[in-house]
Amino acid sequence: MPPSMSKNASYSIDLLNLGAGPLDCKWQVGAPFFEALEQDLVTDGLVDVTLRIKKKTAGYEVNMHIEGYVTIPCDRCLEPMRQEVSGDAELKIQEGDEFCDDGQVITIPADMQSVDFTWNIYECIALSVPISHTHPEGMCDSKMTELLNEHSAASKSDPRWDALKSLKADEEG
Ligand SMILES: [Zn+2]
Repeated sequence: MPPSMSKNASYSIDLLNLGAGPLDCKWQVGAPFFEALEQDLVTDGLVDVTLRIKKKTAGYEVNMHIEGYVTIPCDRCLEPMRQEVSGDAELKIQEGDEFCDDGQVITIPADMQSVDFTWNIYECIALSVPISHTHPEGMCDSKMTELLNEHSAASKSDPRWDALKSLKADEEG
């Protein structure tokens, strides 16, 4: 987890204030949230986050839901595009010797009184982005597409050329 996020209080939940019943939190994350995280995939967007945290016999159970849109580079032309996202995450919080977050279980030291969900929110959003995402057909930046096509055509390796190169390398070696 990037160190800059550890002191982000906005998306923290104070565990000491948790009663017997579940606690519901609602946030909306936008450009400042994504900019602060400095991640390559998602740089902008507007996403509603609902989080429910419930105390269990041992530890806590967290259910997160995200819904909104993000701005990400299009696979085809690399220009920014808007992608709808919607997803869920389930987390468990348990006590342990030192802080650790493996994406599913957050381990916190016994004296830790609040948990920051900034990174978990980002992860839930990023995981909701489809692996393949492009502008609708015909909506891509045409200049950029042309350039990329030229580039990929030029960089394709030719097996005959590769064989020649390895022959030459053998001779020289
Ligand atoms: Zn595109």
